[in-house]
Amino acid sequence: MKKPQIPLDELRAQVEACHACPLADGRTQTVFGDGNPNARVLFVGEAPGKNEDLQGVPFVGKAGQNLNALLEIAGLNREDVFIANVLKCRPPGNRDPRPEEIQVCTPFLREQTRTIDPEFIVTLGNFATKFILKTEVGITRLHGTLKMAGRFKVFPIYHPAAAIYDRSKWEALEQDFAYLGELLKRE
Ligand code: SF4
Repeated sequence: MKKPQIPLDELRAQVEACHACPLADGRTQTVFGDGNPNARVLFVGEAPGKNEDLQGVPFVGKAGQNLNALLEIAGLNREDVFIANVLKCRPPGNRDPRPEEIQVCTPFLREQTRTIDPEFIVTLGNFATKFILKTEVGITRLHGTLKMAGRFKVFPIYHPAAAIYDRSKWEALEQDFAYLGELLKRE
């Protein structure tokens, strides 16, 4: 029998109350995710950074500005899509997520995905891509290629923050978002 979907409000309350890993101790607040609950495209990033932790919203600050500009290239805006992260709390000093944190937190992302039931999952960067595709292949090889994970079409892309420090990534991001726009028209 198909498992019932958990409403997003209920999931958000579960995340807000979560103390299942030590990241709860350092957070200002949890960052559940944001956007259209019926989105055709779910974007999955890595974890909240400083600004996200302060505001409780994913992809604000410079990485958020990059993402907004890139969404426009694909013919999308923030209200069209849903944006979430692998982890719901900020790792100290923006360090990488640890395997045990990913393991304990990702049931929330799994339930979000079941409830939103998108057609496309766009994974932003290595951590989201490796988790969703269950692969050890890195984002450098996978970005810009369409994959399947169960019934979901998965499109890995560099993390928009990567272009803040490495402008060569910006061109790849622009190309991948342009291709995403084509896929959304075609598929
Ligand atoms: S990162 Fe995830 S598992 Fe850890 S406390 Fe936050 S919500 Fe809970």
